[in-house]
Amino acid sequence: MIAATCHCGAVRVEVPRKPRSLTNCNCSICRRYGTLWAYYKASEVRVSAAPGATSDYAWGDRRLRFVRCNICACITHWEHILPAASSRVGVNARNFEPESLGPVRIRLLDGASTWKYLG
Ligand SMILES: [Zn+2]
Repeated sequence: MIAATCHCGAVRVEVPRKPRSLTNCNCSICRRYGTLWAYYKASEVRVSAAPGATSDYAWGDRRLRFVRCNICACITHWEHILPAASSRVGVNARNFEPESLGPVRIRLLDGASTWKYLG
């Protein structure tokens, strides 16, 4: 298990293993947040936060919400607003301690137009 925490520690996201790769997406929201995403099944992700400790943002077709800490404002993850059994969660890998992540490949995703990985 490794954990990602926001800067102040109010929000903690636990996942069962290190990600094999991270995604750097250039879509309109990801490039502004500066996030690096690690993807997991929703059933594998445990988010710990006090009630009211987070806010979220949804846009476009409103299928996803981006969750952030109300105290330090770090983006912690995105999740489906109506999750299905197969739903994925994007965990912001910027919130892992570098030593718990280790060396990991970063892939560029052209979320702005083609939705293809560029490398
Ligand atoms: Zn925080």
